[in-house]
Amino acid sequence: MSVQAVLDEIRNRPGTGTVVPVIDPSTEEQITEFTDCGPEAIDEAVANAKATAESGVWSGLPDYDRAKVLWRIADLIDENAAILSELESLNGGIPPGQADIITKVGSEWFRYYAGWCTKIDGIARDINAGGLTGVESHQHVYTLREPYDVVGLIFPWNGPVFNFCAKLAPSLAAGCSSVVKPAEETPLSALVLDRILTEAGVPEGVVNLVNGLGHTAGAAITAHPDVDKVAFTGSTEVGREIVRSSAGSNLNKVTLELGGKSPVVIFDDADLNMAIPMASFGTFIHSGQACVCGSRIFAQRGVYEQVVEGMANMANTMQLGGPHEEGTVIGPLISQKQLTRVLGYLDQGRSDGAELVTGGHRLDRKGYFVHPTVVTGVDPDRSRLFQEEIFGPIVTILPFDDEDEAIALANNSTYGLAATVWTENLGRAHRLAKRLKAGTVGLNCQMQFDHSMPFGGYKQSGWGYESGKAGIETYLQTKIVWAQM
Ligand code: NAD
Repeated sequence: MSVQAVLDEIRNRPGTGTVVPVIDPSTEEQITEFTDCGPEAIDEAVANAKATAESGVWSGLPDYDRAKVLWRIADLIDENAAILSELESLNGGIPPGQADIITKVGSEWFRYYAGWCTKIDGIARDINAGGLTGVESHQHVYTLREPYDVVGLIFPWNGPVFNFCAKLAPSLAAGCSSVVKPAEETPLSALVLDRILTEAGVPEGVVNLVNGLGHTAGAAITAHPDVDKVAFTGSTEVGREIVRSSAGSNLNKVTLELGGKSPVVIFDDADLNMAIPMASFGTFIHSGQACVCGSRIFAQRGVYEQVVEGMANMANTMQLGGPHEEGTVIGPLISQKQLTRVLGYLDQGRSDGAELVTGGHRLDRKGYFVHPTVVTGVDPDRSRLFQEEIFGPIVTILPFDDEDEAIALANNSTYGLAATVWTENLGRAHRLAKRLKAGTVGLNCQMQFDHSMPFGGYKQSGWGYESGKAGIETYLQTKIVWAQM
């Protein structure tokens, strides 16, 4: 499939709603468009998914066969890696080397969960309730782990191949049927992935791709009476809407992977040759549009000046540009909306009296580029720059004196997605790992990921987990069967 064929296919998909332009964020040019699928298409997609769940065409397939299909999907993603990476660059502004990694991680999701198909186990016990009732009563009890019939899979634009695979691999391994909605900004790679699923042997109707806006298609999926579970990745704000929708309609189950404002704590004894480049990479990569970006840095007073200077130098040397421009390390923001939002935060910071050590402006060229920005002098209790997820290349740096103060500052957030500690003191590293309120903590490492380990947020960064064993549990429910002996 060529890039042009994908651009044509999305334009020709049927729909009844708004026409949505698809933009190349590094040029601001429209590359194609699609029509919001409309409510009838959501009903149809859910009905198709439900019919396949009831027929057992996927959930009833022998585990080994499901595993083989998942493995084939992984191989086909590898075979189509070039076009998937190209679409990630064109539609998301991601430099090719980084897009290649995202695509590789995508295929490995399917290999990892192929292994889980044959390891979905319950428990069994023989129970004699006589001890409680005084009457002899023997039962054999066991649990069945069963897939949800229909799951709604909704995800954002920051790494669409990654997000598609993160949801489809475990839900297919569990045996679920699904309705899948990628973000309206980045609908392209999902078309290729959807074809791959079919080519690999996922029966028709098991996975139903829809294209639409959040408040139309997304909301219709979450409120649909036949959607048993919603697995959502996106902003905390929309996560809250999804919970409200569940509470107000079908009480369907919800898993949420939400926003973050992750702290990075750098102690006087840290190896700054590692800490400064990693902290810079960990906050500016993808123009700060990664949920785990370490956007609040706390440096112990003895190294504070060095950290500010080092981060500012890194901010000035990490080259911004279009994905195919020579030397590009960081691509653009995804959209005009995101650009306006980020520039608004910078204005707010200035009027609050924050010091912009470097950056603070968009580049004087086409594309949604904002110079990586280092900010100091923010008030942690009042500054919106410090408290809110910006999803742009902006980092605040504050000094601290001791461990207690570092913890107080780091935990001063409604979010709790990730945290990092840089120190050569082993005991202190582990003490902080315990005290930080975050779903993932890195000790002298940042932005680590592996399919085999769970990932999820504390506080308002999420409900439930993705990846690892916990990731397949997300798509399974437990039935308890009592048999009188
Ligand atoms: P978003 O919440 O605006 O949109 C995410 C998805 O939800 C899109 O597909 C959108 O169309 C859909 N949507 C919007 N309104 C909806 C509604 N009312 N009902 C149902 N669906 C709706 O997020 P975004 O701007 O696309 O992505 C950025 C956000 O995603 C950031 O907050 C980031 O931290 C978060 N994120 C979190 C993780 C994680 O694993 N925790 C990973 C990536 C991104």
